[in-house]
Amino acid sequence: MKKLCFFALFLTIIYIVKPNDIIIDSDMTFEEATKGTKAPKEILDSLCIIDVEYYSFDNKLHKGQLVLNIAAKDDIIEAFKIAKKIHFPINKVIPIIKYNWSDDESMEQNNSSAFNYRFVAGTKRLSNHATGRAVDINPFQNPVIYSNGRISPKGAKYDISKKGTFSSDNEIVIFLKSRGWRWGGEWTSLKDNHHFDLP
Ligand SMILES: [Zn+2]
Repeated sequence: MKKLCFFALFLTIIYIVKPNDIIIDSDMTFEEATKGTKAPKEILDSLCIIDVEYYSFDNKLHKGQLVLNIAAKDDIIEAFKIAKKIHFPINKVIPIIKYNWSDDESMEQNNSSAFNYRFVAGTKRLSNHATGRAVDINPFQNPVIYSNGRISPKGAKYDISKKGTFSSDNEIVIFLKSRGWRWGGEWTSLKDNHHFDLP
């Protein structure tokens, strides 16, 4: 009986100290997350799916997923650890199949994602997203600003004083650059502030 009481107490303690429930934004298998892509087999074979944890703008801990190139995996896991540590909010991270492979739709929903077998917007050139070597984070806080001043996604504003916004002195930007990644916010043709890629 005494043993049973201890066991009950133990269970109660576990229940009480259990960390706050994590909010699940995405929970797909690799097959579910890549279904219907036009990517050839050799690209699919170089991809993986990872779980990432982040604080969203509700200040709660969330779990999302990224489909990305195996070569990009370790750096991105580390970048998300930094984001979590410094409470850099990330809205949500869901494989882009959720938006029917539409980058525009994903951006409008302020979704962060990596692999998408697609061309660079407005060209016939394959994007680094096509091989899973590019990651977009918080497009709404970090919009693309074209040289003519057009901003994408529509209605977004780039204001580095706002949470979840990248600038050259952001820890995540500094870390990824140190690992050989490029940050689109430093491009001169246009500013792709939410975009990171591994050439
Ligand atoms: Zn991108």
